[in-house]
Amino acid sequence: MVFKEIQTEDIFQCKKCGDCCRGYGGTCVTEKDIITIADYVNTKPDSFVADYCQMSGKKPVLAQGKNRYCVFWDGLCMIHPVKPYMCRTWPFINSLLVDINNWYIMAQFCPGMRTDISPRLLEKYIQRELSDDLTKRR
Ligand code: SF4
Ligand code: SF4
Repeated sequence: MVFKEIQTEDIFQCKKCGDCCRGYGGTCVTEKDIITIADYVNTKPDSFVADYCQMSGKKPVLAQGKNRYCVFWDGLCMIHPVKPYMCRTWPFINSLLVDINNWYIMAQFCPGMRTDISPRLLEKYIQRELSDDLTKRR
């Protein structure tokens, strides 16, 4: 298979299982995320941080409910059109450029990631993808 022919869907298709929306790890929200999501849920950025976030050090991350899921998980992502950058870009993250084997480790926790692709091919594809605007892809 020629890597130029590979599409995102060929190596990753979200199964909407919600596994990545549960457990502490902290879904970081950027300033832009805060403004966009606050507008989507009809509140002000300050109120959004107070009501929907918790602090990880000095940085806000999305809060979790008692079930340990993100407060915006309700069988599906309730803010999907404006979900944080971190959620939009998963699993194409920069640490893959450091070590492509991170893909296979991440895939243990994400059933949407294919693992039957060689590291060499995967690396070429991911290098290409990360040089694009990730936010436009999903
Ligand atoms: S763990 Fe993977 S397949 Fe499941 S919802 Fe998250 S991104 Fe989608
Ligand atoms: S914002 Fe949506 S995709 Fe991101 S962790 Fe919360 S429920 Fe999951």
